[in-house]
Amino acid sequence: MDCIFCKIVSGEIPSVKVYEDDRVFAFMDINPINEGHLLIVPKAHAATIHEIAEADFLAVMSATHKLAAAVKKALNPDGINLLQLNGKAANQVVPHLHVHIVPRWFGDGVTVSQWELVAGDMEKIQGVAERVRGEMGK
Ligand code: 5GP
Ligand code: ZN
Repeated sequence: MDCIFCKIVSGEIPSVKVYEDDRVFAFMDINPINEGHLLIVPKAHAATIHEIAEADFLAVMSATHKLAAAVKKALNPDGINLLQLNGKAANQVVPHLHVHIVPRWFGDGVTVSQWELVAGDMEKIQGVAERVRGEMGK
């Protein structure tokens, strides 16, 4: 399969590795949006949250938890953004599931988590909640 992150996991494409276990591989992002920007991926290829096996996703999240603690100790950021994009509409560029850890500092100018708060229409919010609850019950 012609997948950049599968090739990074196998070592065919070099990367700056920070962590590895049976299910998970983590490495520094080559285009960091802030110091310490890194990526956590499952070793088994899965394009998005909809394809990944639950056990692999939990392993990715467990590694993310450990790596966030390590980043906190190593770099002492004021905060950390976790980002995980699914699908082109969500701006996912590499179709192999990954979690971004982005360390944040006050005044760093990174705009990734800034959006305007606009009050929603409560009827619409209730309607959407009803549809999601309906699917959860199946
Ligand atoms: P996405 O938008 O899919 O969530 O982000 C993909 C990320 O993968 C980007 O932050 C990009 O910099 C990173 N990336 C793409 N190709 C490579 C690569 O070959 N090596 C590394 N280390 N990171 C990559
Ligand atoms: Zn892959």
